[in-house]
Amino acid sequence: MKTDTIHMNSLLKGNNIAFKSLSTEEIGDDHLFTGVNTPLIPGAFDITDEHKMEQIEHHFKAIMKTLGLDLNDDSLKGTPQRVAKMYVKEIFSGLNPANKPKVALFENTYRYGQMLVEKNISFYSNCEHHFVPIFGKAHVGYISSGKVIGLSKLNRIVDYYARRPQVQERLTMQIARELEDALETKNVAVLIDAKHLCVASRGVKDNSSSTVSSYYGGKFNTDEVRMEFLKYIQLNTQNI
Ligand SMILES: [Zn+2]
Repeated sequence: MKTDTIHMNSLLKGNNIAFKSLSTEEIGDDHLFTGVNTPLIPGAFDITDEHKMEQIEHHFKAIMKTLGLDLNDDSLKGTPQRVAKMYVKEIFSGLNPANKPKVALFENTYRYGQMLVEKNISFYSNCEHHFVPIFGKAHVGYISSGKVIGLSKLNRIVDYYARRPQVQERLTMQIARELEDALETKNVAVLIDAKHLCVASRGVKDNSSSTVSSYYGGKFNTDEVRMEFLKYIQLNTQNI
C-alpha cells in the first residue's frame, strides 16, 4: 500500500503556505490547509440548528434542481431535508462548540510516567475541499502527568473533531491540541491513517493509497518513546 506521510511538527514550523494568491484551479486537488483552527465566520452559532437546517434544505433543493433532478419524485423529495439534518446534527455537528465532549480528569498516580495508547479509533470525517468522506483509524497516546481521562473520552475527542469539514493535517492537530489541554501535558502523540474518497472515487482514482499524518509532542520527540508508541500501534515504521 502506498502511503503519504505528513509530519505535523515540521509542517507547522514556519510553513506559512502563501496560497491566498492561488486560484482554485491552481490549488487543484492539493489538500492545503491554512491553520489549526477551523475557519469559521463570526457569529457562526448565533442562529439555531433549526434555522440552519431550513437554510441548508432550501439551498440543497436548489443544487438538486440545478442538476436536473425532479424533486417531485417520491425517492428524491425528502433528500434536501435529510441532508440538512445529517449535516447539522450528525456529520458536521463537531463544528458547534456546544457539542464538545466534557472531559473529566482522574488522579491516577499509579500510572504516572507511563505511556497509554488507544489505538484503532475508527472515525468518519469529510474533506473540506470536496465534501466527500475521509475515514480511517486514529491512534493516540499520552504519558500521564499523574492525571488520566476515561478511555471513551479519547474516542469522543477524535469523533468530535472528525465531525467537521476537515483536512487530515488539521484533524491531527486539533486532536493533539485538545489532548494537550485536557491531559495537562505536552507528552501526546496522534497518528492518523486515512483514506480520502476525493482521491479514491474521483480525481486520480487511486484506491490503494492511504495518508498518514502524525503529531508528536514533548517526550514523543525522542526516538525511544516514539518507537514504543509505534510498536504499540504496530504500523510499518518504515513509512512513518
Ligand atoms: Zn478532497
